[in-house]
Amino acid sequence: MHGIENKFVYQAIELVYRNVIFIRMKRFQLCFLLVFLSVNQLVAQAKTDNYTLLKPDRVFDGERMHTGWWVLVKGNRIEAAGEPPGSISAPASAKIIELKGMTLMPGMIEGHSHLFLHPYNETSWNDQVLTESRAERTARAVVHAKETLMAGFTTVRDLGTEGAGYDDVGLKKAIIKGIVPGPRMLVATRAIVATGSYGPRSEVAETVLPQGAEETDGIDGISRTVRSQIGHGADVVKIYVDYRWGLNDVAAPTFTEEELKTAVQVAKSSGRMVAVHSGTEEGMRRAIAAGVTTIEHGDGGTPELFRMMKEKGIALCPTIAATEAISTYHGWKKGIGPEPAGVKKKHYIFSEALKAGVTICMGGDVGVFTHGDNSREMVLMVEYGMEPIDVLRSATSVNAALFGLTDLGNIKVGYLADLVAVYGNPVEDIGNVKQVEIVIKDGIICKK
Ligand SMILES: [Zn+2]
Repeated sequence: MHGIENKFVYQAIELVYRNVIFIRMKRFQLCFLLVFLSVNQLVAQAKTDNYTLLKPDRVFDGERMHTGWWVLVKGNRIEAAGEPPGSISAPASAKIIELKGMTLMPGMIEGHSHLFLHPYNETSWNDQVLTESRAERTARAVVHAKETLMAGFTTVRDLGTEGAGYDDVGLKKAIIKGIVPGPRMLVATRAIVATGSYGPRSEVAETVLPQGAEETDGIDGISRTVRSQIGHGADVVKIYVDYRWGLNDVAAPTFTEEELKTAVQVAKSSGRMVAVHSGTEEGMRRAIAAGVTTIEHGDGGTPELFRMMKEKGIALCPTIAATEAISTYHGWKKGIGPEPAGVKKKHYIFSEALKAGVTICMGGDVGVFTHGDNSREMVLMVEYGMEPIDVLRSATSVNAALFGLTDLGNIKVGYLADLVAVYGNPVEDIGNVKQVEIVIKDGIICKK
């Protein structure tokens, strides 16, 4: 009997060992730990590193800044946060991470990214869609995902692959499986445009070109397309409600109000949010009437439209960084040359939205500019008139609430341990959000 019992015990021990090794391997794959520990060390660590105590100078919890707070992580969740010793009682086995001179905050949430695009001053959007292979685009997206995570962005809302089909779903799955490092992804898949309204285009009528998004029309058509994209994995439905349509190259509304209302009804009835690209006053008016979740760019905004957005709880994702980047690609020298019309417009709509009290989603349209430089948008939001503390909220708790992420974007007991430590105090200097020292995703240290 003893022999058999022992055999079971040995089998159980072996199983535990295997699992520990598997878990550690996963961590290794996920975050490229530089040191691979021996089996004995692994077992010892698995027992003790369950708790991690983080000791920064201050904590931004998603709402407020707290001087002298510490944060205790157990596994992949936040176990405690507050002022020591009262609110923190860490077991003696807890791994301690000293973060002198740093602010600990929730992992940041990018509201508008395109992991499958790279800056247009490297390759134009048209050429990316028409000449880069899907393999190249995926290879680039893998690199971009890692750069995003290392910059402290542990979640992204990726608003369209721009011609790369449903490959965002595949990338999201690969990250979840631990094959490549990257942020949590909310994906839009192909995005939706009205027939003939998007690009790339050719003036030769017979030319059939691959499109940067999926074309559809009519009540039946748009509901079928929304459902199909959800079926392929869309967490968010992205619709272009206006675009530079036809030869005159002037932005004009694309879908009718009825089409948009149907799309929103179908998407929301399945629990998905709706993000709309809009650059015209009428496009925005229709999107607001349809009850979308966020309006991207919003360059057609007026005080009246922003008042309506506030009333209906629709957020603005201003993408200031993309506007400035594109102006720069067209030759603008910031601080030297006069501000181009697009930049002036962005100043106007952003201050009007702030005045109206519209919820601001932090999202820069990164991909138009360099991945990993996501916080450029946050610096610009302050430059364009938003309080630094509000910008921090926007990139954490506000985006989490907008995107239905109920256990992210805050440092609260029970929330997922997605955390970032940055040097300095970003409320005093928003540029400090670029000084990322440590990134923790799902309780795992990804950068140190
Ligand atoms: Zn975009």
